[in-house]
Amino acid sequence: QQTNGNEKEFIQSVTEVLASLGKLLDAQPKYEKNKILERMVVPERAIVFQIPWVDDKGEIQVNTGYRVQFNSAIGPYKGGMRFHPSVNLSILKFLGFEQVFKNSLTTLPMGGGKGGSDFNPKGKSDREVMSFCQSLMRELYRHIGPSTDVPAGDIGVGAREIGYLFGQYKRIVNSYDSVLTGKGLNWGGSLIRPEATGYGAVYFAAEMLKTRGMSFEGRKVLISGSGNVAQYAVKKATELGAKVLSVSDSNGSIIDPDGIDAEKLAFIQDLKNVKRGRIKEYAAKFTGAKYYEGQRPWQLAKCDVAMPCATQNELDLDDAKALVAGGCFCVCEGANMPTTLDATTYFLGNKVMFSPGKASNAGGVATSGLEMSQNAMRLSWSAKEVDEKLHGIMINIHNAARNAAAEFGEPDNYVMGANIAGFRKVADAMIDLGI
Ligand code: NDP
Repeated sequence: QQTNGNEKEFIQSVTEVLASLGKLLDAQPKYEKNKILERMVVPERAIVFQIPWVDDKGEIQVNTGYRVQFNSAIGPYKGGMRFHPSVNLSILKFLGFEQVFKNSLTTLPMGGGKGGSDFNPKGKSDREVMSFCQSLMRELYRHIGPSTDVPAGDIGVGAREIGYLFGQYKRIVNSYDSVLTGKGLNWGGSLIRPEATGYGAVYFAAEMLKTRGMSFEGRKVLISGSGNVAQYAVKKATELGAKVLSVSDSNGSIIDPDGIDAEKLAFIQDLKNVKRGRIKEYAAKFTGAKYYEGQRPWQLAKCDVAMPCATQNELDLDDAKALVAGGCFCVCEGANMPTTLDATTYFLGNKVMFSPGKASNAGGVATSGLEMSQNAMRLSWSAKEVDEKLHGIMINIHNAARNAAAEFGEPDNYVMGANIAGFRKVADAMIDLGI
């Protein structure tokens, strides 16, 4: 009823959350009395705007920009900006909705929002990306602020784009506000922010493994994606003794039976972050590695732990069946909603430890929160300090999700636990604040 009937990603994310809350809602009638669910599934505000810019041929291009300000009950809106041709209101509403619960789980005072554009940064020159970012900020600046809404990066938005966006914001408002996170180290960024989502997901998975007396040592791990989250998930899992067998991009997957060590990861980082090339080049460089065009990693090799770190709905029921048949017992989402609903149900029904992205990828936004704190205090913490805080936050999120699930009789159900723990804090704040 709240959608145009065709917002399939948004409906999918709301369905997952609502299916988890039944026992809590039965136990606590105050949520129904205050119409919390009805209020939570509608964004407080959604801004849609035109982004005209000029390409290198001197031609005018036009993209659509969005900022979905979903819920500000516990703090200013906070969530990334995504630049990808697939971006539409359904995807940004799903991401904004998830962000509300995720930010609540971090225990930091941040509401939820998300934004972006259907702009495709692939193949664009730095000047074109700058021109686009400046035009986007010409409209966005009036809707954001350190106490209003603090965007960050996401797919297609890294340090380069945040730099151009912040440069334009600063020029317009004439103030060095902490209005974006993911900034460069020389201009207000936090150490460990680039690493935070990938590291955090691995810290979360390590806590899940601990509950069964296990660790990453000697485990075979499949990771999808080769962007920000995937790169640092590979790094931390390898540091903890795992053998990471795969990476991928939107064209295909690499399987490397020897594992992706530090030298190979450095090649991936140069390839994806500097040269902006395709992952198939990895197979040409390292003997033993094989490239599979158009395929995702899940059915290409057996693993103990799977970490989808690319995009939404990249792991479906057939993939889930293949993973379980191959002995996979832990699935930890680094991306947002990478697992389809039926695949999630299959994992939960087959005793696979499964963590939803809103819990296990919360390390990125948590460290963005730490970046905001450092900016507010006008100081910078060391990498060690930030990493320790991140690690502590991930352990707390794991325990909060597990304890909430246990409270309602399903201690291994991290989906239910994360949704209940995230929901309760926001819902109680909404009741306190009145309608
Ligand atoms: P990047 O843009 O750095 O990397 C995205 C990766 O996913 C790339 O390898 C990309 O391939 C691949 N990919 C993108 N779209 C598709 C697609 N449709 N099919 C297959 N592969 C695809 O983004 P991030 O690493 O930052 O984000 C990855 C996921 O993690 C997203 O779901 C994001 O929302 C989530 N996330 C990110 C956080 C962060 O701090 N960055 C925080 C929390 C969640 P290609 O190179 O071909 O584009």
